[in-house]
Amino acid sequence: MHDVAVVGAGPSGLFLALALVRRGVDVVVLERRGGPRVHSRAIGVHAPSLAALERLGVLDPVLAAGVRIDRGIVRIDGAVAASLDFAAVPAPHPFVLSVPQVATERTLRGELATRAPDALRGGVQVERFERRSGSVAVLGRTARGDALRVDARYVVGADGPLSTVRAAARIRDTVHEYPYRYVMGDLVDGTDEGPVAVLHLHQQGIVESFPLPGGKRRWVTHLPDSGTVAAATRADSGETNDPAVAALLSRLIRERTGLTTDPGGASMTSVFGVRRRSVPTMGDGRMLVIGDAAHEVSPIGGQGMNLGWLDAAALAEVLPELLASGAGAEERASALLRRFSRTRLRSAGRAARVAEFNMAMGRPAARPGFAIRTGVARAAAAGVLQDRLARMFTMHGL
Ligand SMILES: Cc1cc2nc3c(=O)[nH]c(=O)nc-3n(C[C@H](O)[C@H](O)[C@H](O)COP(=O)(O)OP(=O)(O)OC[C@H]3O[C@@H](n4cnc5c(N)ncnc54)[C@H](O)[C@@H]3O)c2cc1C
Repeated sequence: MHDVAVVGAGPSGLFLALALVRRGVDVVVLERRGGPRVHSRAIGVHAPSLAALERLGVLDPVLAAGVRIDRGIVRIDGAVAASLDFAAVPAPHPFVLSVPQVATERTLRGELATRAPDALRGGVQVERFERRSGSVAVLGRTARGDALRVDARYVVGADGPLSTVRAAARIRDTVHEYPYRYVMGDLVDGTDEGPVAVLHLHQQGIVESFPLPGGKRRWVTHLPDSGTVAAATRADSGETNDPAVAALLSRLIRERTGLTTDPGGASMTSVFGVRRRSVPTMGDGRMLVIGDAAHEVSPIGGQGMNLGWLDAAALAEVLPELLASGAGAEERASALLRRFSRTRLRSAGRAARVAEFNMAMGRPAARPGFAIRTGVARAAAAGVLQDRLARMFTMHGL
């Protein structure tokens, strides 16, 4: 019997497993993928997550793999209209670190393997659960098709938006689809922007670009909904490296910013729609959910992975206490979990509203709406909103 079975070895599951192992908890992680992720995916790591990674003892390798972003600027017709300094945010690490999710996952996996070599079991598809008194049986199948059963006192679903754990725990999710689609890609950085995040405001839709390690830059822009885009961009692609999508991204960047980028140098492309998924509770019994399994937020603004890590850090504080309390402490356990769930869902709600602000600032607009938007950006430049925006964009307090 394990103390905790974590389903999913994405960023949330790996963080939680490592945090629990460091506290002496016996953890098993069940992951259907046979090996690590290959594409970059999330890149923005914010100040509260940097502090959490430091407490986990893995900040140095994560910092070494990333690029520190101290400043963001807004460009309109090429000229700088606003500038935001993240150094002003009161935090031990007052910057945004740009580091591909694939690299942070590698660090977390490596550290977990060192501290608990048998904890991560890859190639395992979890299928269903049987609740017992005081434990849960997790039932699944290995990559070879063999049946597998793992017993644990608590099960945590860090198994992403389509969570099997969430469904089995009968936690109802609500999904809101936004009417926006984006194209994204990692291209060779031919700009002179250096380690600065740049938002190009354009009437046809925002173009965002962020520095990446290895001389690359992450570009994201709004997809037009007219017939000018290929039918292939109507469906989500996941992270791939599709030359046609890279060419489309390059064309949109040129049309909206005047900048030339080389689609041939792309290392990742993605086409995606955005949604908000929320739940009324992250669980209050023996089956819980964290990360995207509990709250999917739009990637615009780069907060989802950070939220998952902060869930994991908070749950790693609570679970050892629950495991240590004996029979008769159910009421206290339930109260602790309710508080955990309430606090984390409040943070996810705030993050979703920030993402909505970001998407609204970046969507295509008619001339009057665009004028208002550029006015807001210039007000920020004048210093009126500097502090508030810097806190908002760095997930301060979440
Ligand atoms: C294009 C894009 C860009 C993004 N950029 C950012 C960003 O810059 N910053 C940021 O903070 N966030 C960003 N995000 C969001 C971020 O990637 C997610 O929030 C994050 O991956 C969620 O982590 P997670 O561990 O909760 O879930 P996931 O990463 O989805 O991991 C879930 C894991 O569970 C496994 N699994 C699922 N079901 C089962 C099962 N039944 N049995 C066994 N294993 C299972 C999956 O294989 C997977 O490994 C981005 C997302 C996308 C799509």
